[in-house]
Amino acid sequence: MIRVAVVGAAGRMGGRIITAIKEAEGLELGGAIERPGHAMLGQDAGSLAGCGPLEVAIVDSLEEGLKSADVLIDFTFPEVTLKNVAVCARLGKMIVIGSTGFTPEQRAEVAGHARKIPVLLAPNMSVGVNACFKLLKEAAQILGDGFDVEIVELHHNKKKDSPSGTAVRMGEVVADALGRDYNKVANFHREGMCGERSKEEIGMQTVRGGDIVGEHTVYFIGMGERIEITHRAMSRDMFARGAVRAATWLQGQAPGMYDMQDVLGLR
Ligand code: NAD
Repeated sequence: MIRVAVVGAAGRMGGRIITAIKEAEGLELGGAIERPGHAMLGQDAGSLAGCGPLEVAIVDSLEEGLKSADVLIDFTFPEVTLKNVAVCARLGKMIVIGSTGFTPEQRAEVAGHARKIPVLLAPNMSVGVNACFKLLKEAAQILGDGFDVEIVELHHNKKKDSPSGTAVRMGEVVADALGRDYNKVANFHREGMCGERSKEEIGMQTVRGGDIVGEHTVYFIGMGERIEITHRAMSRDMFARGAVRAATWLQGQAPGMYDMQDVLGLR
């Protein structure tokens, strides 16, 4: 049995992940952690997630939550995850990170800890989105500089980071395939007399509203034709199942940084 702890246990993703752990073969919930002061501390994590009691109470100490766990799944926020990955490295526990919104410096900090433990970090754990990353690379290589690239993402009105980690990764994949530096060509803002579009830029647009789980479209816009590659998430469950699959895949891996492309054999 692989024993999995979940941090952010009372969150939107935390509940779905706990349910996915219960439904998966060969895994069990080993710990559930929330932020100090959270109203659900002490509650049974399974009951709160809606999948029935699992006899794991939600605690506010990561060290305590990891006592009976081999691997941590963390869907919180970058500042929280940075502290958690340091604790995992100290205790020799693997970690699957779903939090999004890391700066390049924060990602480098995570990679530093990955010298001691296996770390899987993916802004999107769905099989479909990861297939899209591969399709985008091929499309960009085929279409080249003759097509303008624009990325539009839609999410619910509670999302804190923008653009989404998935949209950023899509931009990075396309920029890499076109021999460009994403950080130099991403354009997040057009307003007023901003001038003509440059050939190299990749436009990044964000829509927020209601309960949209997540939608991403990459437009390749040429003269007289347009290709759109779209992924629509209908529920959070496939992210949760992806995270559980990642936690299983991580067992026995050497210390290092991995992502879903490794898990799915798409590299
Ligand atoms: P949420 O706000 O519903 O849940 C986050 C949880 O983390 C909350 O319950 C919060 O109390 C808890 N938390 C905050 N600080 C903490 C701390 N110090 N210690 C322990 N717990 C703490 O958010 P969500 O919609 O579940 O999303 C969480 C993260 O996952 C976001 O970064 C989101 O973008 C990301 N996400 C990633 C994927 C993916 O596939 N990688 C998919 C969906 C969401």
